[in-house]
Amino acid sequence: MAEFKATFASLIIGATSALTVLAGGAIDAQAAEVNLYSYRQPFLMNPLLDAFTKDSGITVNMVYLESGMLERLKAEGDNSPADLVLTSDIGNIYNLVEANLLQPTRSSVLERNVPAQFRHPDGLWYGLTTRARVIFAHKERVKPAEVTTYEDLAKPYMKGRVCSRSGKHVYNVSLLAWMIAAKGEAAAEAWAKGVKDNLARKPQGNDRAQVKAVYQGECDVAIGNTYYMGKMMANEKEPEQQDWAASVNLIFPNQKDSGTHVNISGAGVTKSARNKDSAIKLIEFLSGDAAQKIYAEDNFEYPVKAGVKLHPIVAGWGEFKADETFLFKIGEHRTQATRMLDRVHFND
Ligand code: FE
Repeated sequence: MAEFKATFASLIIGATSALTVLAGGAIDAQAAEVNLYSYRQPFLMNPLLDAFTKDSGITVNMVYLESGMLERLKAEGDNSPADLVLTSDIGNIYNLVEANLLQPTRSSVLERNVPAQFRHPDGLWYGLTTRARVIFAHKERVKPAEVTTYEDLAKPYMKGRVCSRSGKHVYNVSLLAWMIAAKGEAAAEAWAKGVKDNLARKPQGNDRAQVKAVYQGECDVAIGNTYYMGKMMANEKEPEQQDWAASVNLIFPNQKDSGTHVNISGAGVTKSARNKDSAIKLIEFLSGDAAQKIYAEDNFEYPVKAGVKLHPIVAGWGEFKADETFLFKIGEHRTQATRMLDRVHFND
């Protein structure tokens, strides 16, 4: 049984200290609230949720979870207090979909604000921010035209030059699932095997640790999510991360063919939701211009809604061509991707 680091009591936001259960499921407008389980961190969510409460009068009770959301929702079943979940990566969202923990919703606001590529066709979940999974390449040791595609990472001249976090991490499983969806199973497996053969060391650490390894000369290239580059560049608490960031170029792969793989953070209404209308209102708010701007500024992500201004650091990476495979299609290839990673012994 998983242990949960967060408790409702310690992390509740707003004045409500207990859930209001009303007879017959009726909701008193005075007591409108929404209960949120979030993998997204309080520093990012608190300003957004405060703005929502100010705007709507709806109280938000957020439980921040570092892990165990799936297990917790499964264990709570119909009695779960959660109305809404916020999580990142299609992989985490798909685990909830496959466990039948989300319910379909419809909203013309969300259909307008969130491009179809980044939401479930039946409204089981909606993307709220996007991030590209890019290549970080050492500024001197990697020549300008040497690495321009994901496929280049699997080529013989990259032998011993690639660093990676665990192949089984949700970000990498989604990348491989995307490759299966976009380029076919055989091409994806050859790629996974080629990258494995080129690894400089056993997969370890997080996205930022790979850039650190490039900086330290253990390898020349790594794969990572764009916002980590922003977090390193702007890191005043650990200024050495600015040096890691400064040692690499951020390359958007596959600009001449498919485009770069883009993933999301997103939200979905739980099957057990007692405050469904308030939950939808909160997702709608998060997809709107004001909230999208805060997301973009505070976490170096891309807004999902068109026309919202980027953080200057993010804008500095330039425009890029994103692959257009629908995220729910990528989600469907995750199991296949996981098996493939075992077959090529990626983590061994
Ligand atoms: Fe992340």
